[in-house]
Amino acid sequence: MSRYFSSQVSQLTPYTPGEQPKDQQYVKLNANESPYPPSPGVAAALNAREAAGLRLYGDAAARELKEALARQYKVEPENVFVANGSDEALNFAFLSYATDGRGVAFADFTYSFYPVFCDLYHIPAQIVPLREDFTLVPEDYYGLNKTIVITNPNAPTGLAISRDQVEGIVKANPDSVVIIDEAYVDFGGESSVALTKQYPNLLVVQTYSKSRSMAGARLGYAIGDAALIRDLETIKFSTNPFNVNSLTMKAGIAALAEQAYYDENCKKIMETREYTARELEKLGFTVLPSKTNFLFAKKEGVDGKALCQGLKERGVLIRHFDKDRIRDYNRITIGTPEQMDIFLEKLRELL
Ligand code: PMP
Repeated sequence: MSRYFSSQVSQLTPYTPGEQPKDQQYVKLNANESPYPPSPGVAAALNAREAAGLRLYGDAAARELKEALARQYKVEPENVFVANGSDEALNFAFLSYATDGRGVAFADFTYSFYPVFCDLYHIPAQIVPLREDFTLVPEDYYGLNKTIVITNPNAPTGLAISRDQVEGIVKANPDSVVIIDEAYVDFGGESSVALTKQYPNLLVVQTYSKSRSMAGARLGYAIGDAALIRDLETIKFSTNPFNVNSLTMKAGIAALAEQAYYDENCKKIMETREYTARELEKLGFTVLPSKTNFLFAKKEGVDGKALCQGLKERGVLIRHFDKDRIRDYNRITIGTPEQMDIFLEKLRELL
């Protein structure tokens, strides 16, 4: 830290992304990326003409992309906010709806970026513990009178709540915004996008990083009441009006025209997930029922951290979280069937 770093932010503990080591080729199952490439139209959209167009600023209003997303999700363009990854949408949402002093409520085991935003903006965090089996109790969030953020399906557990349960929480907090982070919803979860038409306090955040194979393009979006979206636009135009670059916008539009390809990938990933879960269970693992592109699993008597390290030494990356209650577990991203067989083979060796 330099001696110039402002005391307002100098105590921050930043978010730690899944590692991207370059020392060797790994079977990479540690960052919930897709094992499949983007659809052909995406590559075609990133052409020489678009490269030449980079001399100009893109469309700060992101009109075409918003229209395409609005068609896809059966809402209006004014219900759509686009962002440089869903992390940015979440960042703006925390800044917009959670800095009035009432604070934010979220689970003890959920996306680890939320506490970082709380730190950054000096937002009091109310941690709502998940049950012993990691399920979320919707009633715990009723009448909290503060911003609520729920990853659904949750990470790193993979467990989901239903749309009706989300609706219960939204209804029970009419004076606060409820943010539903649906980063993993396309792998078997129930989306709450349709509820945004009825509830002006519901914001649903999604991403191209997982089911649409575009983590590197950095494209996320939020869907909600037009007034909520205007708030996010105010923050965007107060920080970075061209937050989504023009190439990514083109790629994002092209991907929506080939949605069937991504639906097929999700189906494959869900099948591979069920196969991997069964194989892990055969090896004596406890595997939480996942609605995501990852599994959360542990084996009695096996040290979670050592397992993660042992697999890394054998060329397979998975993710371990060194925190009480989940220390025995590892989060394993679902890759191709071939990748999962390598993972299982190395795991058997290790055990
Ligand atoms: N939400 C959740 C729950 C996530 O796991 C991630 C991925 N780290 C994100 C949001 C952010 O994804 P991105 O910024 O790539 O859209």
